[in-house]
Amino acid sequence: MPDSLAELRECHDCGLFHRVGPIETGSVARCLRCNAVLLRARHDPFDRPLALALSALALFAVAIFMPFMSLNIGGQQVAASLFTGPERMEQQGLWQLALLVTVTTLVAPMLKLLATVYVLVGVRQRQPPAHLRVIFRWIEHLTPWSMIEVYLLGVFVAYTKLVDMAQVHVGIALFAFGGVMLAMTAADAALDPEAIWRKIDRRDRRSAPETGTTSITNAVGCHCCGLVSRLDGHAPACCPRCGSTLHARKPNSIARTWALLLAAAILYVPANLYPVMTVISLGKGTPDTILSGVEELAHAGMWPLALLVFFASVTVPMLKLIGLIVMLVATGMGSRRRLRDRTVLYRIVEFVGRWSMIDVFMISILVGLVQLGNLATIEPGIGAVSFASVVILTMLAAESFDPRLMWDAAEAAGGSES
Ligand SMILES: [Zn+2]
Ligand SMILES: [Zn+2]
Repeated sequence: MPDSLAELRECHDCGLFHRVGPIETGSVARCLRCNAVLLRARHDPFDRPLALALSALALFAVAIFMPFMSLNIGGQQVAASLFTGPERMEQQGLWQLALLVTVTTLVAPMLKLLATVYVLVGVRQRQPPAHLRVIFRWIEHLTPWSMIEVYLLGVFVAYTKLVDMAQVHVGIALFAFGGVMLAMTAADAALDPEAIWRKIDRRDRRSAPETGTTSITNAVGCHCCGLVSRLDGHAPACCPRCGSTLHARKPNSIARTWALLLAAAILYVPANLYPVMTVISLGKGTPDTILSGVEELAHAGMWPLALLVFFASVTVPMLKLIGLIVMLVATGMGSRRRLRDRTVLYRIVEFVGRWSMIDVFMISILVGLVQLGNLATIEPGIGAVSFASVVILTMLAAESFDPRLMWDAAEAAGGSES
């Protein structure tokens, strides 16, 4: 092999370069320093994800056109589809929430599925078209914003809240949506990005032949497709395989993360002070904040659910804020302590972020279903907008933080003992 960089792989969590040869299907290559997954080879990387993504699309169509849930109180009936919640929020002037719910539950997952099918079909051609790489890159960007599994948990919380006061009927769309979630998760698990990139890459193989020594000076791992190339000169370079801009580290990572965290911390106050929704029953309105919603669940004896909502809406945003501040400060000080633990903390913060949306989704469902005039109506509150902003800002903050900077800082301070 004349290509000295082809087998190199940069760990996206600690920045260590590894030489990873072809690995057996079904096995995983991990970072020797921080245990992050470097490469995972799937059994059937082209057919299985395609079949699963196609089934998810078919179920999605059912979920969109069929009734989702209906409610019956004292002879009055309301039926809701997937669109009812966002529509009502928009009517109440909270278009930001309406947009967020529509994007995370409909637009992003749908686009992601369509793009996945498109790429997996395109890759079967002998000469995959060049624009496939742009579309495959999109999938990476859409993934964090596709939140069907969180939405379904929100539906579950809303259902348990409603089932006491009314007759709730679950529609076909809800089961179909559950199916979409399962098929999408399975498709994600079956997808092998490295195998797909290699297929898309075939046409430009002859460009950028790497010869000579295997030194990693100026070597940079692409943050999108993982290909390692050499950065020469000062002009911004693009990855020869996927076309993303190459950076040794995420640009302005520390300043950007601080700014996003600060904004999130400020909005955390109104998110907890203002009502996220108001329950109007027999002409009397009771405003609900995040915490009073949890209290209510606890009073009704639904302890597991109260704990779940408390964890998702109170603990997780706090964990993200405090966790990221700890990582930023430790990086600034060049700390060498608990590097591996901090890297694990980063992975947790990145993973749990989306689950805070449970409350937002629950509100969207309650608002869409409970609209029986004076008898019972639920209106969204301004607190929900602040709360959703906190979730989004902390997700962006976690995304802009580069965990490799913690290892760099420790190395600069003299060694990276953990
Ligand atoms: Zn690592
Ligand atoms: Zn790339």
